[in-house]
Amino acid sequence: MARHTRIVVLTGAGISAESGLPTFRDANGLWEGHDPMQVATPEAYADDPDLVQRFYDERRAALSRVEPNAAHRALARLEAELGDDLLVVTQNVDDLHERAGSRRVHHVHGRLRSAWCTTCDERHDWSGPLADRPPCPACGAATLRPDIVWFGELPYGMDVVEEALEHCDLFVSIGTSGLVYPAAAFVHWARGATLELNLEPSAGATDFAESRTGPATRLVPAWVGEVLTGSSGR
Ligand code: NAD
Repeated sequence: MARHTRIVVLTGAGISAESGLPTFRDANGLWEGHDPMQVATPEAYADDPDLVQRFYDERRAALSRVEPNAAHRALARLEAELGDDLLVVTQNVDDLHERAGSRRVHHVHGRLRSAWCTTCDERHDWSGPLADRPPCPACGAATLRPDIVWFGELPYGMDVVEEALEHCDLFVSIGTSGLVYPAAAFVHWARGATLELNLEPSAGATDFAESRTGPATRLVPAWVGEVLTGSSGR
């Protein structure tokens, strides 16, 4: 590799789209007559917990029908070379980065395969449904909710993200619309160079030093190849 580089990669729903997991915004229509964005809120959960649990139960079940794609695998290859000098920060709640082999993955919006007990505050790895109100393995209360950061809730571990962005040489945003905060502001927090890889220019595309458009399965392996061979500026 041409030079020592500390890289922070932000991923959004677009990196998993070609694995078959729809993004919320890309014209995939409604879920049981509901806008997915309106199901992903604390208010929706308070109004109709069964509806929200079923929405996430379906999404959790869908994970076993999809596989990581070439973009996830390319980031895992990059981590194998860079080790601690690469951090993947993801808005995704799927587990495709981990299944591709990435280990340093920070889920700012939680994980589908985790359940959070609102009684005892314990979190549990979870692969089954929650709509049938199973007891919490720790305290027995039937108060497990998806361990997902809903719109209006605070993202997880922003101190980790801020620290990484302050010390990186390169920030790369992949498959994210640039509309969900605080992730949309990471480009402003990042020290060093900035690059966007997205199907189309995102809402914040002009904030990046460079923006490339195309599918993640083409752009990400190509960019990782450049980093590993030292053939580009970064
Ligand atoms: P988004 O749906 O708002 O935007 C997705 C972006 O990806 C768009 O800009 C789109 O142009 C781009 N895109 C679509 N297909 C692509 C492809 N093949 N290659 C490259 N880019 C592509 O997603 P977001 O910005 O991540 O935010 C929405 C919220 O929805 C997040 O908080 C996230 O937690 C949640 N979400 C997660 C998943 C998942 O975990 N897989 C799926 C849907 C929504």
